[in-house]
Amino acid sequence: MVTLIDTISNPLRPRHPEKVNRPDALSPPKPDWIRVRAPNTRGYADTRNIVRENGLVTVCEEAGCPNIGECWDKKHATFMIMGDTCTRACAFCNVKTGMPGSLDAHEPDDVADATFKLGLSHVVVTSVDRDDLADGGAEHFAQTISTIRARCPATTIEILTPDFLRKDGALEVVVAARPDVFNHNLETVPSRYLSVRPGARYFHSIRLLQRVKEIDPTIFTKSGIMVGLGEERHEVLQVMDDLRSADVDFLTIGQYLQPTRKHHAVMRYIPPDEFEGLEKVAYTKGFLMVSASPLTRSSHHAGEDFAKLKAARAAAAR
Ligand code: SF4
Repeated sequence: MVTLIDTISNPLRPRHPEKVNRPDALSPPKPDWIRVRAPNTRGYADTRNIVRENGLVTVCEEAGCPNIGECWDKKHATFMIMGDTCTRACAFCNVKTGMPGSLDAHEPDDVADATFKLGLSHVVVTSVDRDDLADGGAEHFAQTISTIRARCPATTIEILTPDFLRKDGALEVVVAARPDVFNHNLETVPSRYLSVRPGARYFHSIRLLQRVKEIDPTIFTKSGIMVGLGEERHEVLQVMDDLRSADVDFLTIGQYLQPTRKHHAVMRYIPPDEFEGLEKVAYTKGFLMVSASPLTRSSHHAGEDFAKLKAARAAAAR
């Protein structure tokens, strides 16, 4: 994995100004079960062209996702709206930090257009944190959802939102736009928040997910954590219980990978059989769907998983 701080695109403005002076954090070498497909196929190139032509940002690229070769080959990209610059500086995240620019009013059309051109039956839209905006970007999310609906009525829509911390009324605006899946990631266990996700509040995130279900029980809710950040097993099990208390339907658990030496170190690579064990426990706790594996990411196989999620809800209702 690349372990450089990007100062090339703009040497005066490093990608992670808040991390650049941190001491290097060394992770253990990657085990052989972390294997990814090289991004060099025709499908990958086609997806990249459509993303570029529409001037879009993807979390696949910005986060340095290890699944990009596989996903883009199948024309699955996760769009990241509201710019490429985030107002938070989470220790695990490779997205650029700083003061973002103003919103692009054409972006909802561009996302809908790319969804159409890629022929997506299920689209995932995420965003950077926009603490600088009065509504945290809620209205822009809602517009993006309604514009995709109008252009691609058969496409189901999954959103992966920030926490809208201290943005009263923002969540309600997004829920009213009726995404099919509302995802908000907890990212880690509560004891690791201060060092991994310092700008967020664990119980606020749990409550956000719970509120989505209270407002509209038809929307599927989803959340995820990374493991390998120093958490204990009993803490992961507690997170499962907290999410079930909030009536969350779908849990994802994946291995944390360090984007650069200035990011949080990988404390441990969890072997595949341990992921399988966590998946089994999570199902016993009542989730409709669980995906737990080293390369599980929130949006990985999101379309196939949405079909399974619907089937699981229908089976549970019988
Ligand atoms: S897993 Fe998600 S973020 Fe990663 S490449 Fe696939 S769609 Fe993009």
